[in-house]
Amino acid sequence: MAIIIKSDQEIALMRQAGRTNGRILEALARAVRPGITTRALDRMARDMLRAAGATPAFLNYPNPNPLLVDASYPAAINASINDELVHGIPSRRRLKEGDILSIDCGTVYEGFVGDSAITVPVGRISAEARRLLEVTEEALRRAIEVCRVGNRLGDISATIQEWVEGQGFNVVREYTGHGVGRDMHEDPSIPNWGKRNRGVPLRPGMTFALEPMVTAGAPDLVVRADHWTVATADGSLCAHFEHTVAVTDGEPEILTLP
Ligand code: MG
Ligand code: MG
Repeated sequence: MAIIIKSDQEIALMRQAGRTNGRILEALARAVRPGITTRALDRMARDMLRAAGATPAFLNYPNPNPLLVDASYPAAINASINDELVHGIPSRRRLKEGDILSIDCGTVYEGFVGDSAITVPVGRISAEARRLLEVTEEALRRAIEVCRVGNRLGDISATIQEWVEGQGFNVVREYTGHGVGRDMHEDPSIPNWGKRNRGVPLRPGMTFALEPMVTAGAPDLVVRADHWTVATADGSLCAHFEHTVAVTDGEPEILTLP
């Protein structure tokens, strides 16, 4: 495993990529309402990327299944509804009151990637859905808080798992957080489960995409027939929050704020 340490100049570029990504998610979250299609949200993201002189990190991303060489990703965002966790393809499907929508977006600016995600309510949602969103966002906040020199990768993983399971939800096993920089997916892999005091010690200049993925039911997942959309096997609701974060000499820095 080779974790790429970024210079201050490189982190400055990641901050610009990240800020664009944060602004896009902020704008999309405001646009989410019953009746809008996820394709309209994707169009907004593409327009904002172009206006910022940036490009989508997800568009044409190769399918993780090596047999599906022609199934590269067709959009700028992932739009995953209710029991869909990640990689939902934007479509003419209209959002309904009571849905929850996970939006994941990646921005490439001057060769560097910003990667972040949010899950947002569509109109009024159930109390259970609301709590799932709150617990998942809080898992991310807690994970960021431990991104400091003196801690190890396992401390991030354990922090997420302990919080989520303590709230009666489950963490997903098949997808993880990751290093991010010139490539959207760099070493290390950062599972949302693990043990404290294990793994690589954190160092200034490490940049991570932390992304708790939480299910209200069992954590088992299926990939739908479009070869992209990942959903819970039992149809339960799930949520996903993500930020790109830099380890520094002091406070962790969130690079994907608007
Ligand atoms: Mg992402
Ligand atoms: Mg990511």
